[in-house]
Amino acid sequence: MPGLAWSSGWPPSGDQALRTRPARARLRRGPVALTHAGSGTFTYITLGPIRIPNPEDLVSWFKKPKQKLVSQKRELPGEMWDKCAGCGEILYSGRLEESLHVCPNCGHHFRITAESYEALLLDGGRLQELYDSHLRSSDPLKFEDSKRYRDRIAQAVARGGEHDAIRTGWGTLDGREIHLGTMDFQFIGGSMGSVVGEKIRRLALRSVDTGRPLVLISASGGARMQEGILSLMQMAKTAAALEQLAEARIPYISLLTNPTTGGVTASFAMLGDAILAEPGALIGFAGPRVIKETIRQDLPDGFQTAEFLEEHGMLDRIVPRHELRGAIGRLLEHMC
Ligand SMILES: [Zn+2]
Repeated sequence: MPGLAWSSGWPPSGDQALRTRPARARLRRGPVALTHAGSGTFTYITLGPIRIPNPEDLVSWFKKPKQKLVSQKRELPGEMWDKCAGCGEILYSGRLEESLHVCPNCGHHFRITAESYEALLLDGGRLQELYDSHLRSSDPLKFEDSKRYRDRIAQAVARGGEHDAIRTGWGTLDGREIHLGTMDFQFIGGSMGSVVGEKIRRLALRSVDTGRPLVLISASGGARMQEGILSLMQMAKTAAALEQLAEARIPYISLLTNPTTGGVTASFAMLGDAILAEPGALIGFAGPRVIKETIRQDLPDGFQTAEFLEEHGMLDRIVPRHELRGAIGRLLEHMC
């Protein structure tokens, strides 16, 4: 194009380019300026080459040198501390054990094992004899969901050592012989299948035979779906055995712990002559969402808590864990 010319020096000759090119950088044509040379002609001149670094070099500008971070937190073994689900307080396990796994800050009752309830309630801290621990589920439906029911049971047994979700036996409370059955929520959510139902039935009938009062401690997600209709039949079976107990005028105390739901609530848990519950326990049949969608009404605050149920006459009394032994002992004294 007439009147337009590149000033000399661009592009650099091959040798010059090589000499001036810095390591790992490429030379590009620099910015140009338009100058007015008079009489209507314009000239472009270059302002010299600029360095354009490689992208790798650009990235390095923003890279922070790696520094090893050293935590200021003291390393504490996990099993020594527990976080309260009620108030979020971090609690020393030793202190929690002393307070029977009740948060000293807010009174939240942590879930404890069947053996812990036995230690809490019984003389000598344990059952004198375990009943029916040989009973096993036979997996009649060959049920399989994300894993086989048989494998699920085997895993639960390996974790806790028990063969199903309840321990039954006899022991003494203040010298009085009682039959005690305690559910274990860790075993497949404390669900009631054939074994749980059968162990409760046998325990109740043993009470009929021996005259020992019955105490059942519930912690359950409900009937065990892996055994289908057979799990639902346990509701009728346990209720029928408890009916025989009632006819024999032998007391039955039911303690509901967190959570007691589904088919367990709908059968033996709510059939006690005295129904007690631990503070804050979730107690209900169906979940709140199902109820809300069925009755098409908003549910009140605190719905399905032990406190709500006590207020509405569904429970006899809420008993904090440290008063449990005394409360059950006094009740049996009155009832026997
Ligand atoms: Zn707490």
